Amino acid sequence: MKTEVTAETAETEVTVETEVTAETVETEETVEIVEIVEQPETLETPERAKLQELDIDAESDGFTESGFPGIRFDAVTVGGGAAGIFASLAAASRGLKVCIVEKNASLGRKLCITGKGRCNLTNDCDREEFFDSIPENPKFMYSAYSKFSNKDVIEYFESLGVATVTERGKRVFPVTQNAKTVRDALRERLRALGVKIYYNTAVTDILAEDGKVCGVLLSTNSMKISAKAVIVATGGLSYPLTGSTGDGYKFAAKFGHGVKNLKPALVGVKTKETFAERLAGLTLKNVSVSFSKCDKIIYEDFGELLFTHTGVSGPTVLSSSFELAKYGYKDIVLTVDLKPALDAATLDARILREFQSSPRRSFLNFLKTMLPGSLAEVFPELLGIKADTRSCDIDKAGRLATIGLLKNFRLSITGHGPFDEAIITIGGVDTKDIDPGTMESKLLKGLYFAGEVLDVAGYTGGFNLTIAFSTGRLAGESAAARVLGDGK
Ligand SMILES: Cc1cc2nc3c(=O)[nH]c(=O)nc-3n(C[C@H](O)[C@H](O)[C@H](O)COP(=O)(O)OP(=O)(O)OC[C@H]3O[C@@H](n4cnc5c(N)ncnc54)[C@H](O)[C@@H]3O)c2cc1C
Repeated sequence: MKTEVTAETAETEVTVETEVTAETVETEETVEIVEIVEQPETLETPERAKLQELDIDAESDGFTESGFPGIRFDAVTVGGGAAGIFASLAAASRGLKVCIVEKNASLGRKLCITGKGRCNLTNDCDREEFFDSIPENPKFMYSAYSKFSNKDVIEYFESLGVATVTERGKRVFPVTQNAKTVRDALRERLRALGVKIYYNTAVTDILAEDGKVCGVLLSTNSMKISAKAVIVATGGLSYPLTGSTGDGYKFAAKFGHGVKNLKPALVGVKTKETFAERLAGLTLKNVSVSFSKCDKIIYEDFGELLFTHTGVSGPTVLSSSFELAKYGYKDIVLTVDLKPALDAATLDARILREFQSSPRRSFLNFLKTMLPGSLAEVFPELLGIKADTRSCDIDKAGRLATIGLLKNFRLSITGHGPFDEAIITIGGVDTKDIDPGTMESKLLKGLYFAGEVLDVAGYTGGFNLTIAFSTGRLAGESAAARVLGDGK
């Protein structure tokens, strides 16, 4: 079913705070700008002369073949993120005259904050593991992956002079541990291939004639660029301060593409329990977590859990979001086993030993031997045992209740964090309307989609950037094949 992209389907939430602070974004502005091309109001303006001076590769200085005043490229890429950059590189390296239209003042703003600024650019796993790590629409990726896999990503960056290092969980990072190394190497390659970049300019519409794409409309003075191929690489809705504000969904919907229900993913969850707020900032390592609905386990994991001001996050929670989204984040209980290495009998023996060796120690002080201080402090109230109760006064029922809480620490999920805090967006342009072998729309010739705008998504670990690189490259190659095949 085709979906109108509305505020409701996009599930945009009121945003209170975001990890991308003004500072984070500001630092980006200091990055050297390859070129800012100003768009003139009319052909006669002095700005037009400036445009032509700067825009040495632009072919037309007047009316293009589609009849509007503007400039002409073989292919226009909408969005200069991971997918748009790879699409443009692929198309330009096959000889196409390509431009990128990017609404920000710099390329790859989101790319620069990936992996906490270190850029986990791919994952060095095998094919099977790769597809197991793509819970949303893995089959759609088969073709793109066969042409440009995670191994090819590593090789490609090495060829650009970006040495990589593989860390825990086969996560691949640049040796410099700096995402800007990745972005700068790509920007340099774009420059070498003559890809034109229009910064501070948004595409506001995609234009079509006779069932084929013919160009884009720009935000600046309604300037137009004509092209036989347009690649939409506008990203999703997450971290909108990086420029991903869902424009691609509107472009897709205009030509009849379905847009699957958009939801934030790889995002923390909100919980009913107010004590979570008191624990904000606490990370629990090596815990077992299970999410259940009506006593049926829907997701289990082992690893880190982080308490936040509104609930919980951390790797185990982020990875659960694909499953939780299926259940609408409703009526889900998170159970944490705080002592997964110890069974109940072993725990009981240990507690008894502790009580016998220090009988006058308070219950709270005993708990602090087992748990981080802030977490220990919520136990007495949850158990209904006074914090200053002496260990020797705690009976078997109290001991068993303590063991029960250590093994089954429960939190009720009430919802998910907002798009502002989500690593990715799930849902997106319906892949049934896109040819997986080319990334071209099945509904409009010459229109391609790549990256997060598509309804494909992976877990953390470098999979989402690989999806963007791989689909971007395939879209660029296919656009080149179409333009060159059509005769330039
Ligand atoms: C905090 C964070 C950390 C992450 N870390 C990792 C990681 O380490 N590894 C990993 O694999 N993935 C990571 N991801 C996910 C990954 O960054 C994204 O999946 C990936 O960047 C998507 O690439 P994209 O090119 O499709 O979209 P984006 O990177 O979002 O790029 C889209 C671009 O299009 C531009 N744009 C949008 N609309 C228009 C328009 N109308 N006109 C002109 N330009 C437009 C935007 O300004 C933006 O630059 C992370 C995400 C976040 C938020």
